[in-house]
Parts: sequence; C-alpha cells; structure tokens
Amino acid sequence: MTADAPAPSAAAGEWHGGQVTDRALCVLCPNPSPMTLDGTNTWVLLEPGATEAVVIDPGPLHETHLQAVVDAVAARGARVAQTILTHGHADHAEGAERFAELTGAPTRAVGRGHADLGDGDVVTVGGLELRVVATPGHTSDSLSFALPADHALLTGDTVLGRGTTVVAHPDGELAAYLSSLERIAALTGGGGVTSILPGHGPVVPDASAMVAFYRRHRAERLEQVRQALADGAAQAPDPVQAVVETVYADVPREVWPAAAQSVAAQVEYLRARSH
Ligand SMILES: [Zn+2]
Repeated sequence: MTADAPAPSAAAGEWHGGQVTDRALCVLCPNPSPMTLDGTNTWVLLEPGATEAVVIDPGPLHETHLQAVVDAVAARGARVAQTILTHGHADHAEGAERFAELTGAPTRAVGRGHADLGDGDVVTVGGLELRVVATPGHTSDSLSFALPADHALLTGDTVLGRGTTVVAHPDGELAAYLSSLERIAALTGGGGVTSILPGHGPVVPDASAMVAFYRRHRAERLEQVRQALADGAAQAPDPVQAVVETVYADVPREVWPAAAQSVAAQVEYLRARSH
C-alpha cells in the first residue's frame, strides 16, 4: 500500500520481477493498482543447487499467479518447503491457504494461527538462511527478513520499491514505524544490507539511501501535519480529512483513504506527545 510522493530513484512501469540476486527470484503478481504499484512481489528464495525453497508472500487469492510461483520453483528443480508472510494484508497473504494446498508447505507469520515467527528467529531452508527482523508500524504484524548471503533485506510493505508506505492506523502505529526505520537504517549502515527486496515495486539497489529518504519523508510529512492542524484543521469537524485535503492535495484521490490512515496515525502520534 502506498501514498505520498515517489522516491527519487524509482523507475515507474519497468519492474517485471525475475531473478535479482543469486538466491532471490521475484514472481510478480498481475494485480497492479495505485495501492499495489506494479503488483505484489512474491519472492522465491533458493540456495544455489538446493531442492527446497522458501516463498515469501504468495500474494492475493489469484490461482494463475499461485500456480506460476509453484511452476517457477519446479523449473529450478526444487519444491516449496516453507511459506512466510511479511504481514496479513490481503494482497500478500490472502492466497496463503490455497498456496499451502498446492505445495503442502506450512505457512509461517506472526500469529493468526500460523506457525509463529518472532524477532531474531533464524529460518533455514535447503541451506539458505533468513533472519527475522520485527518491523512493526505499517501493521503491528509486519516482519522483514535479512538474507545475509546476498546482503539483502526483504521488507514487505515496510519499505517499498517506489513511493512511500502507509501507516495503517489503528493497527499500524507511527512511533513503531519510526523505530523500525531506525532499525533498518542500522542494518544498512554497516554494509550488512545493501539492497532491499520490497513487497511492491522494483528492487532497491541502494538500501541506505532509500531508508534515509523514508526517514526524511516521514519527518517532513509529520511537520506538514503539525502545521495543518495548527492552521485550523484541528478545529475542523473531521480533522483527519481536513489534513488530508491540505497535506495530500498533490496525490491522486484514489489513495486518499490510505493517506487518511497515515494522517490518523500521525495525529495520534502528535497528540500523545503534546501532553
Ligand atoms: Zn500491507
């Protein structure tokens, strides 16, 4: 889910998925929209030569796409051994049950009846190692996954390949989101993570620059929201809508409902710090 202005480095309309690192293949789901960018990125992670793969985010309940993911894994001489969800939004997770039927593989995520995953867990599949990094904020259940062998971080909707994400209030929370960005910045700072494999949009080759952009953008938006409230939106019958109309005047109206979620999260964040 996205809103706000695009990141300076992202190329629109040129992302089709494919093999992007030694171990990561993206099968792009054909569900493009203003909220999903080019569509949902389903990630197939496979150690070279291994016969067991892990799939991150099977995507929506889209039979052709789910079958394409199974076929892509089979074409590499492997089978899906585990499926992992970055978070519970339908465009990432709705197809998980059907995908489990197709593959026989267990689904792992935070809660919701799935075999649980938590911060610091290490997932090993076919010799491939993934480290779980809890990154709540977009949603309370958002996880990222470090793939140390490829210096990559899979971020779901926490950091996207283009534009910026939504803090999906009330489940999503701005203070948590800012902490998660700080955490990702720390991972990119030491050179451990150099690229981001996002849940939507193209691979981000300069992780550090993208996270810096995200942090700058959030600080700027927060200041704009603070200003709009001070300029009168706080007294409007619907302060959140009044802020959206001022601060998000430049984004397409179809993403205003998502922008309203982010604004509500920002208003709550400012209120919690004003007394
Ligand atoms: Zn999402």
